[in-house]
Amino acid sequence: MYCVSNALKLATGALVLAIITFAGTTPSSAQSGCLPGSLQRTLGQIRANFGPVRIVSTFRRGAMIAGSGRRSLHASCRAVDFHAPPGKRAAVIAWLRGNHTGGLGIYGCSMSHIHIDNGGRYSWNKCIGGRRTASR
Ligand SMILES: [Zn+2]
Repeated sequence: MYCVSNALKLATGALVLAIITFAGTTPSSAQSGCLPGSLQRTLGQIRANFGPVRIVSTFRRGAMIAGSGRRSLHASCRAVDFHAPPGKRAAVIAWLRGNHTGGLGIYGCSMSHIHIDNGGRYSWNKCIGGRRTASR
């Protein structure tokens, strides 16, 4: 009995270590610390006006824009994908259209997160995971 519980402790310890290691080396990051100040401020204003946002991802090493072959601003941590507070998605998008000066991306279909970046002022609406996957 003693041996079994000891082995279990060891296994649990190894698992915890594996999770920590994975979190530290994963190329996809939900940390907002690397974002430029303008995006940090925008996120702060959204939190202040609408409530807590859930960051999906910020920095993605070598990220490309789907279907375009161009480098994504996520590759240099100048973009953030996030979920608006529950029920506030439309309001947050409307606010961004009026207040955010960089890029704004809205995913439809099975994805519901919002993308903002500090690139040029443009917006797009993509459907990923559905039939209407945008090609431009
Ligand atoms: Zn994005």
